[in-house]
Amino acid sequence: MNTESKLPLEESRSLNFIEEIVESAKVGDSLPRVHTRFPPEPNGYLHIGHAKSICLNFGLAKNYNGKCNLRFDDTNPVAEDVEYVDSIMEDVRWLGFDWEDRLFYASDYFQQIYDWAVVLIKKEKAYVCDLSAEEVSSMRGTPTIPGTPSPYRNRSVEENLDLFERMKNGEFAYGSKTLRAKIDLASPNMHMRDTVLYRILRAHHHRTGNKWCIYPMYDFAHGQSDYIEGITHSICTLEFEVHRPLYEWFLESIGLPLPRPRQIEFARLNLTYTVMSKRKLLELVKSNYVNGWDDPRMPTICGLRRRGYTPESLRNFAERIGVAKRENVIDVSLLEFCVREDLNKKANRILGVLNPVKVVITNFPDNHVEELDAINNPEDASAGGRKIPFTKELYIEQEDFMENPPKDYFRLRPGGEVRLRYAFYIKCENVVKNPETGEIIEIHCTYDKESRGGKTTDGRKVKGTIHWVSAQNAVECEVRLYDRLFKSENPEDGQDFKADLNPDSLKVIKGYLEPFVKNAKAGESYQLERLGYFNIDKDTTENNIVLNRTVGLKDAWSKIVKK
Ligand code: ATP
Ligand code: MG
Repeated sequence: MNTESKLPLEESRSLNFIEEIVESAKVGDSLPRVHTRFPPEPNGYLHIGHAKSICLNFGLAKNYNGKCNLRFDDTNPVAEDVEYVDSIMEDVRWLGFDWEDRLFYASDYFQQIYDWAVVLIKKEKAYVCDLSAEEVSSMRGTPTIPGTPSPYRNRSVEENLDLFERMKNGEFAYGSKTLRAKIDLASPNMHMRDTVLYRILRAHHHRTGNKWCIYPMYDFAHGQSDYIEGITHSICTLEFEVHRPLYEWFLESIGLPLPRPRQIEFARLNLTYTVMSKRKLLELVKSNYVNGWDDPRMPTICGLRRRGYTPESLRNFAERIGVAKRENVIDVSLLEFCVREDLNKKANRILGVLNPVKVVITNFPDNHVEELDAINNPEDASAGGRKIPFTKELYIEQEDFMENPPKDYFRLRPGGEVRLRYAFYIKCENVVKNPETGEIIEIHCTYDKESRGGKTTDGRKVKGTIHWVSAQNAVECEVRLYDRLFKSENPEDGQDFKADLNPDSLKVIKGYLEPFVKNAKAGESYQLERLGYFNIDKDTTENNIVLNRTVGLKDAWSKIVKK
C-alpha cells in the first residue's frame, strides 16, 4: 500500500473546473473546507472508470488538505454482496488511497433516512402510493405533457404516517406500495414528478440482515448520506445532472440547516475498445467469456493489476486525462502509454525468447558455460546487475533471422554478423533445414571470443543487436499474450456488445527465459528486452511459471538497433 504518494499535480498545469470551484470559494487567503467521498455501490468490481473517480475524490481532498470518505451506497440488497465490498476496499487501498477511519455505509443511516421520510410526510411533501411501477410510469406524462396525479396523492398525513409505518413493519406485499415525494407533476424534469423514495423489498441485506423490508431509493439516500458525513463537494458523473434539483429539493424540504453539500458533475471516463458498464462486465464473467473479474483482459482494477498495471500508472493516467464537463472517449493507448512509462523506470530487464529457433555456436566448447554480466535496469543504477549463462546452443527469435533479407535488415542473415545482447558477436555460417518441410531447424554460427560484452578488438561494428537465451539453461514458461477484448473502437455501439468480442484476445504460447526467472514472484514485472513488459501471474507454480504480457514496447523491433 502506498498512501504517501501524492497525486502528481504538476505546477504548470491549470486548475480543473472542480478545483476552480473550490478556489473560487476562497475567503481572503483561506480555502474552503474540502470533504469528498467515493460512493461505490457494492454490486460489482471496480473498473478503470471508478479509478478515475477515486483519484479525483481522494486527490482533491489531498490537494486541499481535506478528507475523503469511502462510503458504500448499499441501498439495493438484491444486487449487492460482501464479496464486492471486500474487493472494493482492496482496490482503493492498492491504488494508494486511505480513508483512515472514515469507512461508511449508507445502510448505517437507514434509520435516519427513514425519520427524514417521516418529516417529509408530516410536511405533506411525501405520500404512500398504491400504484404499481407500470401504472406510475404510464401516468408520468412526457417532458411536454404533465403527469397524471396518483389517486393516492391527497391522502392525509395521518393515513400516510400509518401506512408508511406499516410498510416498514412488513404488512404489505412486495411492490404493493411505495412512498413518493409530492413535488411537481408538470415539471419538465421528469425526476421531479413525484419520484419514488421507498420501495418494499423482501431481501436479505449484507449488513442490516432482515431488519428492513423497505429500502430508500438511491436518490433519497445519497444526498442525505452526504449531509450526515459533512461532505462539501459531492462529485458524481454527468448522468446525475438531471437529478441535482432533486438532490437539493430533499435537503431543503427536510429542512436541513446549512451548510449543505454541493453536487458537481463531471464526464465519466469512456475508453476505446472497452466496455465499462458493471452490468456488461458481470455478464462477461457470469457467462465465462473471460476467466473471472480479474482476467487480465478486463478493465477492472483487479484485472489491470493482474495484467501488470501499477497504481502509479493508473494515477498518472487519471491525472493526464483530466476532468471534463462533456462526454468524451479516451484512446486506450494512452492507458498503455502510462503503464509503459512507469514500468520503464521500475521493471528489471531480462532476456527471453518467445518464438525460438536454435543457434549452434560451432567454435564454442561443448558443455561449457560462460557467465556474462547483464544490467538489470539502465534507467535505475540501484537495480544492479546479474549473470547470464552463455552456452554452445542458444535460442533466438525466428524473426531475427532471414535467409533472403531485404537490404535494410540488420539482424542475422547467412554470412552476416550480429551482436548478441550482453554477449558476443556471432556470424552465421550455414543453416540446417528439415529436408521435408524446408523449415530452418538450426542456424550454425561462429562467435568472436574477443568480442565479449559486445565490443570487438578491431573496432568493427554491426547495426543489429538481438536477444537470446541459452538453450540448456533457459526456463520454459507459459506466456499469455493478450490483445484487445473487443474488435471495434466502440463495442457498445452495436446491438450486442458480445458479438464484438475479439476471438483472438488471448493466445497462450511457450517462452524460454533466462534462469533468473525461477526466483521471480507472482506480481513482479519484467521487461523482456525488445518484446515488452510482462508480469508474473498468480497461477505460477514451482513447475510452471506463467507470464502475462502487460504491454508491448512502443517500437519493438527497431529500438535496439545501434549505429
Ligand atoms: P451503477 O450505478 O450502474 O451500478 P456505476 O458505474 O455508476 O454503476 P457506482 O458504484 O455507483 O457504479 O460508482 C461509484 C462512483 O464511481 C460513482 O460516483 C460514479 O459516478 C463513479 N463512476 C462510475 N463509472 C465511472 C466512469 N466510467 N468514470 C468516472 N467515474 C465513474
Ligand atoms: Mg452509480
